[in-house]
Amino acid sequence: MATDIFETRESQVRSYCKNWPAVFEKSSGAYQFTEDGSRYLDFFSGAGALNYGHNHPELRDLVVDYVANDGVTHSLDMKTPAKRRFLETFERIILEPRNLDYKVMFPGPTGTNTVEAALKLARKVTGRQHILSFTNAFHGMTLGSLSVTGNSMKRRGAGIPLTNSSKIPYDDYFDGDIPDFIWLEKVLEDSGSGVDKPAAVIVETVQGEGGLNAARMEWLKGLSDLLRRHKILLIIDDVQAGCGRTGTFFSFEKAGITPDIVCVSKSISGYGLPMALTLFRPELDVWEGGEHNGTFRGNNLAFVTAARALELFWADDSFEKELAGKIDELREGLEQIAGHVKGATLRGRGFLSGICFPDPDTAGKVAAEAYKRNLLVETSGPEDEVVKVMPPLTIDSEDLQKGLKVIEDAVLAATGQMGEPSRVRPPH
Ligand code: PMP
Repeated sequence: MATDIFETRESQVRSYCKNWPAVFEKSSGAYQFTEDGSRYLDFFSGAGALNYGHNHPELRDLVVDYVANDGVTHSLDMKTPAKRRFLETFERIILEPRNLDYKVMFPGPTGTNTVEAALKLARKVTGRQHILSFTNAFHGMTLGSLSVTGNSMKRRGAGIPLTNSSKIPYDDYFDGDIPDFIWLEKVLEDSGSGVDKPAAVIVETVQGEGGLNAARMEWLKGLSDLLRRHKILLIIDDVQAGCGRTGTFFSFEKAGITPDIVCVSKSISGYGLPMALTLFRPELDVWEGGEHNGTFRGNNLAFVTAARALELFWADDSFEKELAGKIDELREGLEQIAGHVKGATLRGRGFLSGICFPDPDTAGKVAAEAYKRNLLVETSGPEDEVVKVMPPLTIDSEDLQKGLKVIEDAVLAATGQMGEPSRVRPPH
């Protein structure tokens, strides 16, 4: 409808709602409901902010109780019981069992806030300006984060030169033909290379927006070792791949590395509430009080749900084990679907997986066909050539299979191999 208030009043800058024009009124678990009563299966999960599904009942009830009891909602960086409980729970359930000794900084509530804090801290600690990031990286929309992001359209939006950073090739950028880190190693050792020694390298273990390229664990280990030798800080941006999305709480756990700085956001609140953390080795905690601040660092509703979500899902390894089975199911399903299109390949890792199509237009068509069948699934990659599949980690097998069937139908329809849509379930 061209006449609704979203179209007449809201800025053109919107994107998701242009492909998904429905008005979503309610949501529960893996489903969203429109105001006219249709139901959509959600394989998008708020771009990774809803790893435990929509409105988890126990977390919802905590929010309701907290608000009903006049709990402090907004607290800058002041002390509250809700923040204490989150910090204690994070230390007990996440940091200590993984042998990670990180200071916790609340940098402001978004992914780009934690990336900005990480870049600033790396520069302050090392006294160097330059940051290296990777081809097809995505780290956020504010100027510092944009300067380490690859996408040319997003970079143009800055309107000014994005400086003090360079791009280096991500794992497999040259299709395995060129040995890893050959350029980086050489220029770091060559005092005549003219490449300024960087303060840090920032990397995603799976490039969520840049086409679901997944770095191999041995590549990450090699990168970490190389940087350590040269006293360059390693920043892992776990904003999208973290909080269980790829199968473990932090996406780098299986690489056996300890990054110097880790960026966390999206699903850390467990409930889709804005919240972010910047984690760093205690020796790097050189901030002066107030040197980096922000009004919304104390989102207590998010602290309340975040602490409980950690207890519910990460207190022991049962959730992780169950997730491993579902990851296999998802990957097998996607592999089979990819088999319908010559040259289509499986991408990503864990519940951050997808299919890359040789004709870049196919992915957008698949997402549109999926939407017609009441499934939300988005695209990724420099040419939007990848269908990106992100169900909630809590999804049951029945809904997972239902969604996979829709994606299969959508692929067949988008590639002219099938006719009319059959919906997830008729509207009710
Ligand atoms: N880093 C990564 C890896 C992301 O995927 C995103 C968001 N897609 C961001 C940073 C930025 O997060 P936000 O949109 O909350 O600023």
